[in-house]
Amino acid sequence: EDLGLTITVGEILVEIMATTVGAGFLSPQSFVGPFPSGAPAIFIDQVARFGGAAGIVAAVGADDFGTINVERLRADGVDVSAIATIQGRPTGSAFVRYRPDGARDFVFNITHSAAGEARMTEAARALVAKSGHVHVMGSAFAIPGIAAALVEAVATVKARGGSVSFDPNIRKELAQADEGRKLVDDVLAVTDLLLPSGDELLVAADAATEEAAVERLLDLGIGEIALKRGSAGSSHFSRQFGRVDCPAFSVEEVDPTGAGDCFGAAYLTSRRAGLAPARALLYANAAGARTVTRQGPMEGVSSREELDEFIAAAGREVGI
Ligand code: ATP
Ligand code: MG
Repeated sequence: EDLGLTITVGEILVEIMATTVGAGFLSPQSFVGPFPSGAPAIFIDQVARFGGAAGIVAAVGADDFGTINVERLRADGVDVSAIATIQGRPTGSAFVRYRPDGARDFVFNITHSAAGEARMTEAARALVAKSGHVHVMGSAFAIPGIAAALVEAVATVKARGGSVSFDPNIRKELAQADEGRKLVDDVLAVTDLLLPSGDELLVAADAATEEAAVERLLDLGIGEIALKRGSAGSSHFSRQFGRVDCPAFSVEEVDPTGAGDCFGAAYLTSRRAGLAPARALLYANAAGARTVTRQGPMEGVSSREELDEFIAAAGREVGI
C-alpha cells in the first residue's frame, strides 16, 4: 500500500495583526492582513512545500477569507479536496496584537466559525483512506467536533499500517485531569513522533525533569521525540539514535507565529523521506528560523531548496 500521503485535520483561519505593539484592542488602530493561518494549515502547507504529498480535512466559509486560504494551500501543492465550504458561517479568524514583553492578545472566532465545522465528510473519508500518516495538532484536537474526526482519521491510518505525529500545543487541556487529558493520553498511546515545545514535554509525560519525561514517553512506545526550544534550537530523543541536539540558526525574530508548525512539518517530511534525525533537525530548525523572519504565520514557509540555501548561507552542514 502507498503510505506516502501525509494529512491533518483541523482549523483554517485568517490572521489579522495589529501594526503597533501594545495592549489589546480597546481603541481604534491599524491592522495588516488577512494572512492565511491555522496551525494545521501552516503545518500541511510546509509539508507540501518541502516536497511531501499532503492533504487537509478542514472547513471554511463561502467568503474571501476562505478563498485566500484554499488558494494558497492549492498553489503550494496541498490536496484541498476535503476542505468543505460551510454556508452561513464565516471563515475562522484571529486578531492578534503583541505586547511589549512579547505576550499576545487575541480575539478568536474559531469554534463558532466554519473552522469548527470540520467533519468526516465523504470527501474527507476518501482522503483519509489513501493516506499513510496523520498529524494531530493539539489546537485542532481541542475544538469540539473536530476531535472525533481526528480520532477516526488516526484509527483508519493506523489500521492500514500508517503512522501518527502529535504536536501537543494545548497546555491548558494537558494540565487538566479530565476528558481533555484522556483524549491526549489516547493520542499519546498511538503516537510515533511527538513534537512538544518547551515544558509541554513535562506536562505531556506528567514528569518533573526532561530526562524522566523522555524515558516515560519512549517507554509508552513513542518512537521519537523532537523537542522545540525556540531560539535555543531543538533536540531529538529515541531509543535508536539516543539524544541528538541541534543549535538554532541566528536570525532576527519578526513574528514567531508558525515556527513550531513549520519545524514539525520539515522534521516529519525529512524523516519520511528517509533522512537521519540529525539532518531532519537541521532542516526543521532552518524552517522554524526562516518562518520567524517573516510577518504572517504562513509567509515564511520554505521549499527544500530555500532551506538548502539558508543552511549553506549560515555555514552549516546539510551532510548526507
Ligand atoms: P509556536 O510559537 O509556533 O507555537 P513552538 O513553541 O511550537 O512555536 P518554537 O520552539 O518556538 O516552537 O520554534 C520551533 C523551532 O523554530 C525552534 O526549535 C527553532 O529551531 C526555530 N526557532 C524559533 N524561534 C527562533 C528564533 N528566535 N531564532 C532562531 N530559531 C528559532
Ligand atoms: Mg507549539
